[in-house]
Amino acid sequence: MSRIAYVNGRYLPHASAAVGIEDRGFQFADGVYEVCEVRRGQLVDERRHMARLARSLRELKIAAPMPPSALSVVMHETVRRNRIRDGIVYLQVTRGEARRDFPFPAAGTRPSVIVTARSSDLEKLEKVATDGIPVVTVPDIRWQRVDIKSVALLPNVLAKQAARDKGGKEAWLVDAQGRVTEGASSNAWIVTRDGKLITRPLGNDILPGITRSVVIEVSKAQGLAFEERAFTVDEAYEAREAFVTSASQIVMPVISIDGRPVGNGGPGLVSSALRREYHRHAEFS
Ligand code: PMP
Repeated sequence: MSRIAYVNGRYLPHASAAVGIEDRGFQFADGVYEVCEVRRGQLVDERRHMARLARSLRELKIAAPMPPSALSVVMHETVRRNRIRDGIVYLQVTRGEARRDFPFPAAGTRPSVIVTARSSDLEKLEKVATDGIPVVTVPDIRWQRVDIKSVALLPNVLAKQAARDKGGKEAWLVDAQGRVTEGASSNAWIVTRDGKLITRPLGNDILPGITRSVVIEVSKAQGLAFEERAFTVDEAYEAREAFVTSASQIVMPVISIDGRPVGNGGPGLVSSALRREYHRHAEFS
C-alpha cells in the first residue's frame, strides 16, 4: 500500500506530495512540528500535543492554519488512510511560501500544513526497551529558545550522528556547566542511588516534552520521590538508573553513558515500571 500525506488541503501519495521550493520551512527552518504516538489506531495525548503546537505557533507569530478541531480531523484521517494501528503521526506547520526574504511575508500568506503517518514495529520497540540503549554526551550548541518545537534541528541532527558514530543510540546534550539539558530527540532522566527521580525543570533550555509531563504524573501516582532539577554528567555516571522519554519511545531505559554502565548495566526497575504504566495515564482520542 502506498503511503498518503496531507499537504495543504489535499491527501496525496508520498511520491507526489510536495511544498514549493520557497516554502519558509525549507528556506529558513521557519516552522514548527509535533509528533504524536498512535496506539491501536488512536492518537495518544493529542490534547497536550495540540496545546504545545498552539504555544509554538504563538511564540513564533505564525498564524494557526486551521481550528484545532479541523487539525484533529486531518491527523485522524491521515492515520486512517495509511491504515496505521501502531506508529506515529507527524505534523508540520510553516510560515508558508513566499519570495525568499528574511522578514515575515505579507499578512495573509497561508501557513503550510503537512501531515504524515507511519507504522512502527511494536515488538521490535519492546525488544529495544528490554535491552536498553547506550547514550553519548555531546555539547549542547543549540539556540536559546529550544522550548519552541521548531523544525530547526541541525544541532540535534549533528549530536545524534556524533552519538551514533560512537555506538550510542541517543545523544545527551550538555550545557556549559556540565549539566545535561536533554536528549537530541528526548528528555533525559536519572534515578539516584537513593531512589529519587530527577529531570531538568522546564525553561527555555529544554523542550517541554509531553511524555515527560505524563511520566511526572505516573511517578506521583506511584508515590516515587521526584525532584525537578538539573543534574550533571558526573551524577548521571553514578546514577542507579537513567532513561529518556519521547512520544515515539515512551520511556526508554539507558544502560550506558559514554561507555560507562549505568547501575548494573541493564534497564532499571523504576524505568521499566514507568514504561509499563505509561498508557494507563495517557489520553487516547
Ligand atoms: N526534547 C527534544 C529535543 C525532542 O525532539 C523531543 C521529541 N520530539 C523531546 C524532548 C520529547 O518530547 P515528547 O515527549 O513531546 O515527544
